[in-house]
Amino acid sequence: MTGGARSFDTRLDARSRAFLGRDPLPLLMGGREVPALGGETRTLHYPATGEALAQVCEGGVADAEAAVRAARRAFDTGPWPRLAPAARSLLLEKLATLMDRDARMLAELGTLETGKPIAESSGDVARATDGVRFYAAAARMCRGETIPLSEHLSIGTVREPLGVIAAIVPWNVPLVLTVSKSAPALAAGNAVVVKPSEGTPLTAIALGLLATEAGFPEGVFNVVTGTGATVGHFLTHCDGVDGVTFTGGTATGRIVASAAAATHKRVQAELGGKSPNLVFADANLDAAIRGAASAIFYGQGEICSAGSRLLVEQSVFDRVVEGVVARARALRVGDPLDPRTEMGALISRSHLQSVCGHVERAVKDGARIAVGGGALTIPGFEAGAFMAPTVLVDVGVGSAAEQEEIFGPVLVALPFRDEAEALRIANGTRYGLGSGIWTADTARARRMARGMRAGVVWINTFNLFDTSVPFGGVKASGGGSREWSHLALDSFVEVKTIWEQT
Ligand code: NAD
Repeated sequence: MTGGARSFDTRLDARSRAFLGRDPLPLLMGGREVPALGGETRTLHYPATGEALAQVCEGGVADAEAAVRAARRAFDTGPWPRLAPAARSLLLEKLATLMDRDARMLAELGTLETGKPIAESSGDVARATDGVRFYAAAARMCRGETIPLSEHLSIGTVREPLGVIAAIVPWNVPLVLTVSKSAPALAAGNAVVVKPSEGTPLTAIALGLLATEAGFPEGVFNVVTGTGATVGHFLTHCDGVDGVTFTGGTATGRIVASAAAATHKRVQAELGGKSPNLVFADANLDAAIRGAASAIFYGQGEICSAGSRLLVEQSVFDRVVEGVVARARALRVGDPLDPRTEMGALISRSHLQSVCGHVERAVKDGARIAVGGGALTIPGFEAGAFMAPTVLVDVGVGSAAEQEEIFGPVLVALPFRDEAEALRIANGTRYGLGSGIWTADTARARRMARGMRAGVVWINTFNLFDTSVPFGGVKASGGGSREWSHLALDSFVEVKTIWEQT
């Protein structure tokens, strides 16, 4: 980038500065760094200050086409799908080692592209690296089975890679989601075309460069920046792609799924959420309050499984809400590069406006703001997209604020009378991603967990994740197989059955 020193330049690791200094950052395809065919670039901005951050080549349809061709070649005639699983495993392990080496750079890029606190970005890097390591090991576990039918028939299944996988990624946890999509696909022997969100491609490009350095064969790991309307649209419609793994909004997910259906692509989708977090009067209320606050304020609430609906048993409603409000007031919101910061900037000023618009509408619908409610001005970061941690009460069941994903630090708190009502409200949205239950009564916890229409239930905790644990949603929150764990491999393999008369 040209121009004077920026507020963050001197605070960055030398590797981050060198990375950002590449002007413009390239697309990656066929093992090469290339400019966009149309010569276009996009300027990225740091959400905390609005300063220009980097220039990135802006891919278009022709670039997506070239990336798919490169991936096709890598899959159809290249070594990758034919390598012994141990060799694929080794390369993934090498990639993880390089991610360890560049952990600080990846964390800084994650913070600069999203505005999230550096402490969270560092956690993202650790999680992403662990993900690559997990699938390095899983590459050797991708096996079939034998089926004994009769003495003269030998039947076996093999799990073969699908082919070319398009990985379409949103902006909120870019590195982690690039890994959750590409690492299992690569482990199974597929070639991947990653399309990052147009505003947050930095960590995906950095990961792609590390994959090249690790020695992945050409065309196996491609990164094409660009918009959903161009690159995303092409990847979901073209014939050269065999499977799509998509994370993003529910409305986009519908478009992606119908496009993919028309060309017979496998689809794995992780979509939006409005996750309920239930607190019963018998719970450890201090723990529940801490858990409820972090469930919504972690990641500025820009987390698909954020506990955005707090349902509290009536007798302890005021106490729990007061506790969450006190934690909201105490949160350190501000400079994302300060390791003590607990909440950073939202992704952009326009997203901030959208989140504030949801709050205004809720108030018009009769809600009361218990804390927060609008944008925050942080000294030294006046142009940043900061929002006050917000709690709304007197929110109607069925109102927009209770039903719609806001994707910001906005909690709606509602009382319930008994288990049946709690479950009715909890299950009463179109989403079904995460859910939480806080209670000291184990039998009740299990009863409620069985009743939740959600992909994940957390009991006396919330938003814990691990590479070895499946994650995903039901209803409008997703479909196909789960992400993470050994189950994620299912999205990227075909089972071939071989009958042999002996
Ligand atoms: P989005 O749907 O706007 O975009 C997601 C990705 O899809 C981007 O890369 C975008 O460019 C691309 N895209 C947009 N239109 C497309 C089209 N027509 N065809 C193909 N690709 C297209 O979502 P976002 O705003 O980036 O992310 C926020 C959303 O993601 C929220 O709804 C959130 O809940 C969801 N999310 C879900 C999970 C999960 O695991 N369930 C995780 C993170 C985020």
